[in-house]
Amino acid sequence: MSRRFLLEQVDDVAVVQVYADGFGALSLREKLLAWHLYLAAIAGRDIYYDQRYAYNLELRSALEGILTHAAGVPAPVVDEVRRYTKLFWINSGPHNGITARKQLLRLTVEQWTAAVLAAAAGGAPLRLRAGESAAAFAARLAPVLFDPDVDPVLTQKTPGGGRDILEASANNLYVDVSMRDLQGFVERHALNSRLVKSAGGLVEEVWRIGGRYDHEIRRIVRHLEDALPYAPAPTAEALGALIRFYTTGEEADRLAYDIAWVKDDASTVDTVNGFVEVYLDPRGAKGAWEGLVSYVNHQKTRRIDIIAANAQWFEDHTPWDARFRKPSVTGVSARAIDVVIETGDSGPLTPVGINLPNDQAVRERYGSKSVLLANVNEAYERSTHEGLRTEFSWEEAEADRTRKWGVLARDLSTELHEVIGHGSGRMAEGVTASPSELLREHYSALEETRSDLVALYFLPDPVLVEMGVVPADAQPSVVRTEYEQYTRAALVQLRRVREGEQLEEDHMRNRQLIVNWLLRHTAAIEIRRRDDKTYYTMVDTVAFRAGVGRLLAEVQRIKSEGDHAAARDLIEGYGVSFDPALRDEVVARVDALRLPSYSAFVMPRLAPVTGADGAIVDVEVSYPCDLESQMLEYAAMARA
Ligand SMILES: [Zn+2]
Repeated sequence: MSRRFLLEQVDDVAVVQVYADGFGALSLREKLLAWHLYLAAIAGRDIYYDQRYAYNLELRSALEGILTHAAGVPAPVVDEVRRYTKLFWINSGPHNGITARKQLLRLTVEQWTAAVLAAAAGGAPLRLRAGESAAAFAARLAPVLFDPDVDPVLTQKTPGGGRDILEASANNLYVDVSMRDLQGFVERHALNSRLVKSAGGLVEEVWRIGGRYDHEIRRIVRHLEDALPYAPAPTAEALGALIRFYTTGEEADRLAYDIAWVKDDASTVDTVNGFVEVYLDPRGAKGAWEGLVSYVNHQKTRRIDIIAANAQWFEDHTPWDARFRKPSVTGVSARAIDVVIETGDSGPLTPVGINLPNDQAVRERYGSKSVLLANVNEAYERSTHEGLRTEFSWEEAEADRTRKWGVLARDLSTELHEVIGHGSGRMAEGVTASPSELLREHYSALEETRSDLVALYFLPDPVLVEMGVVPADAQPSVVRTEYEQYTRAALVQLRRVREGEQLEEDHMRNRQLIVNWLLRHTAAIEIRRRDDKTYYTMVDTVAFRAGVGRLLAEVQRIKSEGDHAAARDLIEGYGVSFDPALRDEVVARVDALRLPSYSAFVMPRLAPVTGADGAIVDVEVSYPCDLESQMLEYAAMARA
């Protein structure tokens, strides 16, 4: 039987199943470790829902309540609630995970209210406030679902009109706080607290046991403790440090955890569990919660391993000022992994590669761990619509190259991006603050720009052939294919932003920035038109690489010196605005072919097998091939 990768398309989102073929070959001890970490990943999922939006958990209880208690609700209403709820699950809330804009429910308020009342009558576990009736609950949530002006944008880093970035963002990381309030305020828990303005001033609600998310964090910790007996020593050390950090919430314990986690670089099973990426926060400080459990894909690790082993060579040959090069690169570890589960900030929308920890000081002293999500990337490739390759290619030969070399070019670029890109460079002498503190709302986009440029810069280097990561006769095609698909992506990605005239998501900004900069300063790319269709065509790989090198030298300088003004000029000048007419054209072209804008992933499912004495004798992996049943199962596990 052939495998199903593409499960369904919900509006413009492809829903794709991820497979974890290597799981069955793990030892029982590794499986048991993965099982408890899997439960810990599910236990923290609701934290992320709440961080994104204050109404999220109430909304989810209502939407899931209707779907699971639909008796008496008219079929067309159920259908629309199902469509909307699938988008809600995919994006962990009403705001689109790519564009940050709120999506609306296409019902009348009366239909909504009647459906909520029916669910309540059927016994759905709604999150009513004390003394609140189901009708009042439905009415309270209605503006969120039906009024486009209520909390329209999740994270707004450049709101314009002199508006404050915190006040213009709908997320739940700040309550009544503006950037002005932060002046002179000493934040003790920048990464792991919600900031609330009260009569007595700013209060940090720390995410730890005894603090905010006490209930969820206690559950996570219990599962981590269950995992400890099965963990090899370095993993146990890291998990112990994580438990301490969840218990105290103190910065020193976060640091100890980061260091212990980086040092655990040889274990087969690994996890990311906690407050990690800062994209959700417009000022780039607060960590969004995520849970990820993985095991090493040894077969696909070979190439990325070679790249990591040569990290010092790459550092020495970067095109930036020698002052910003690391004299000695330490602890770059890189592997290809298969994910068993991703929740919160990393699922159902997932990155293709990860490089952690984010703490620049830890990276410079202890190194970082880079991973390529092999099974996610495979599922993505195997589900990609052919039209995405052909519609935006200027000629058939270009589409052909993508078919033949696209996967290798993409994988290699992702590996260079994660391992060499994020791991490279150092701060200028005398700069003591971290680049994220200095570059603030522009840090993430600038850092992604830098890492993409590193990958694009080294891809044509003969050293890759010498290292044996790409065959000599294939390299020119791989380079050309990657430069072409990178260039096309800046155009094709506009399909994801169906409203508005500016990009918010940092990776989208960074892609557009690079292509726009090359368009303006080199002859590497041409904008062509044919039959009322626009094409971004890469025409000169040598000019492309030279331009990339020039831009990269400047981007590294900006990061190393923490030059906020230069970062702003670069990102706002090239990466934010786009021509809405061009976007409309792109949207019309993808809609004519019904091409998805992005992909969401259904995770493998683990289940313990118990023996006669109740002990777990095996852990089995299966594939639900259904977004809805997986999301309802996770929610039920959080309630249990
Ligand atoms: Zn990156």
